[in-house]
Amino acid sequence: MAKQSGLGDNLYVGGYDLSGDVRSLSAIGGGPAAGSGRRTGNSETREKESHAQKSEQEKSVEEMTLSDKQKLFARLVPRLIDRAHELGYEVTFGDFFRDQRSHGKLGVKKAYGNAFSCHKIRLAADLNLFLDGKYLTKTEDHRELGEWWEAQHPLCCWGGRFDDGNHYSLTHEGMK
Ligand SMILES: [Zn+2]
Repeated sequence: MAKQSGLGDNLYVGGYDLSGDVRSLSAIGGGPAAGSGRRTGNSETREKESHAQKSEQEKSVEEMTLSDKQKLFARLVPRLIDRAHELGYEVTFGDFFRDQRSHGKLGVKKAYGNAFSCHKIRLAADLNLFLDGKYLTKTEDHRELGEWWEAQHPLCCWGGRFDDGNHYSLTHEGMK
């Protein structure tokens, strides 16, 4: 059976699941099915594989792309909402993503909100807190949750530092 296509297809070879074994994958790529002799592309292939396996959680802050940060943010926001409930609050959603067709491109102010807002790059969430049915509108009302958020990752920012208490974000290129 010739192994012709790239990563991501069926990795069951000879009854063994090789999907977790990078070395085996390389061996398949350079094996008899690959054609004439040794292939110089192997090290490059291996590099790609290891890169693909490095999740956004394993990268240093400097290594993280915008996409990595967006995925990390999506991973952290459910924990933030859980934490709010653990602290006894109820939560509703305010703005998360602000579409550039409505709000203008990054750097352009077309509607309300900051021209360089993290909402425009999928890195911010506004959460409304309620306690005993009462809507909490002050920045201070968010402090406990905000400081918890700041402790979750070096990129986490709480809007309470700039009088925007319900704003929870990850920073990117100076934006918060
Ligand atoms: Zn916000």
